[in-house]
Amino acid sequence: MTYPNWLSQRAYLTGNQLALSFGDNEWTFAEINSIALEYAGKLAHFGITEHSRVALLAKSNAEAVFVMYGCLHIGCEMVMLNERLAGAELAYQIEDAKVDQVFVDSELYKKVAASQPISFEQLRQAPSADFTLKAEWAKDRTVSIMYTSGTTGNPKGVRQTAENHFSSAVSSALNLGVSPEDVWLCMVPLFHISGFSILMRSLVYGMGVRLYDKFDAAACADELCKGQVTHSSMVAVTLDQVLREIEQRELRVSTRFKQVLVGGGPVPVSYLQRAEAHGIQVLQTYGMTETSSQTTTLQPADAKTKIGSAGKPLFLYQVKIDGAKTGEAGEILIKGPQVTPGYIGKFKDRDVQKDGWLATGDIGYVDAEGFLFVVDRRSDLLVSGGENVYPAEIEKVLMAHPSVREAGVCAMADSTWGEVPAAFVVLDEPEVLDELAGFCRGRLAGYKVPKLFRMVDALPRNASNKLLRRELKTWL
Ligand code: AMP
Ligand code: MG
Ligand code: MG
Repeated sequence: MTYPNWLSQRAYLTGNQLALSFGDNEWTFAEINSIALEYAGKLAHFGITEHSRVALLAKSNAEAVFVMYGCLHIGCEMVMLNERLAGAELAYQIEDAKVDQVFVDSELYKKVAASQPISFEQLRQAPSADFTLKAEWAKDRTVSIMYTSGTTGNPKGVRQTAENHFSSAVSSALNLGVSPEDVWLCMVPLFHISGFSILMRSLVYGMGVRLYDKFDAAACADELCKGQVTHSSMVAVTLDQVLREIEQRELRVSTRFKQVLVGGGPVPVSYLQRAEAHGIQVLQTYGMTETSSQTTTLQPADAKTKIGSAGKPLFLYQVKIDGAKTGEAGEILIKGPQVTPGYIGKFKDRDVQKDGWLATGDIGYVDAEGFLFVVDRRSDLLVSGGENVYPAEIEKVLMAHPSVREAGVCAMADSTWGEVPAAFVVLDEPEVLDELAGFCRGRLAGYKVPKLFRMVDALPRNASNKLLRRELKTWL
């Protein structure tokens, strides 16, 4: 089974619709398709064919989209490198993926100089060579490869096929709805599934993308008010920052703005209330690189009765808890056409699916009405005096304190209990640090109350702004 080339098909069907907007420039699907054809020729000049695997190290800007779409036309595999990684981390991924060529944004050249990359500047200036347009895509063809953000270490290269991306886009549309005027504000990185899935939805729906090369709370708040964008993707911390902008500047969110997908972790109830006060619908979602993003979503109508839930699976997907009864916690398993067929490189022989089910490494439970609650990463669990302690539960309590802006909890070695929780907090008012133990004591069992509270300026986060608990341990 094949799909027609999505970019050619989209340019043919709705060529005059907005495809991309970046800075002061805009491109229709017809325009971006012809730029992509030019880039395909330039890639061919450097010997890239449908059998190649290339690595891309880019900022999330228009040029990156041109190169990615050029790759789609050629039909090669793209390994998406994370611009925030250090040289050694990038070298590991380039080596593990055995790529034929690295293409790099000229500004980032130094980071990967050792792998003799071709800069975007060189690519731009290269002549176009003849190439065979990949007119049809096999469903099982690998389109993109992303190394998991490594909140747990050991980065693994995850394959995402055309079918993975297609089913993800379609399932999301069945859940959110689509209309021809929709424009998705993308301030999340394109090299992560959160950002790349927005490009895939754009091609599948004929939807515009308003792209920024990084998250910018003030610009985001302005975009929400201007009336062009209808959707956006965020995580809880960035949502909070955008809400602060809106509150402080007393902005009015446009009625054209529809929904924000918030993933990566639970959203504190107070954020939901603040968002609602400004007419922003928050859809809490659960997903990962291995499931090409969004897998379950909580409808706003359920947000008040199912506080802390990540909702129910999208139509094509199934979720269950390994060996657990209703309401019992265990590992979350996921099945569906959006689940990766596997990894590449060192982990290529590891089975990611067992009877079609992906073991996520996340702990959660499903309640009697079928709503999923994600409890924590299995690897972040700490055991204190024989009791399981989930850092996320403690963080949630701390975040409920009005002066706690951010909280991160990790395990600390303890001679009596084996491990005890330690908390790092970003505070609006430093004086409250001494109150926090008491605040937790009223709300958590004694063994869950952190034995250490430390105030910090910021918490360690990855490029998706997800908390890196592993790094917190090195701060102890
Ligand atoms: P990544 O592999 O970088 O895409 O990150 C995916 C991981 O983020 C999941 O395996 C979860 O551990 C976490 N995650 C994503 N969404 C949620 C959510 N709604 N609640 C809790 N954890 C989440
Ligand atoms: Mg992961
Ligand atoms: Mg708070």
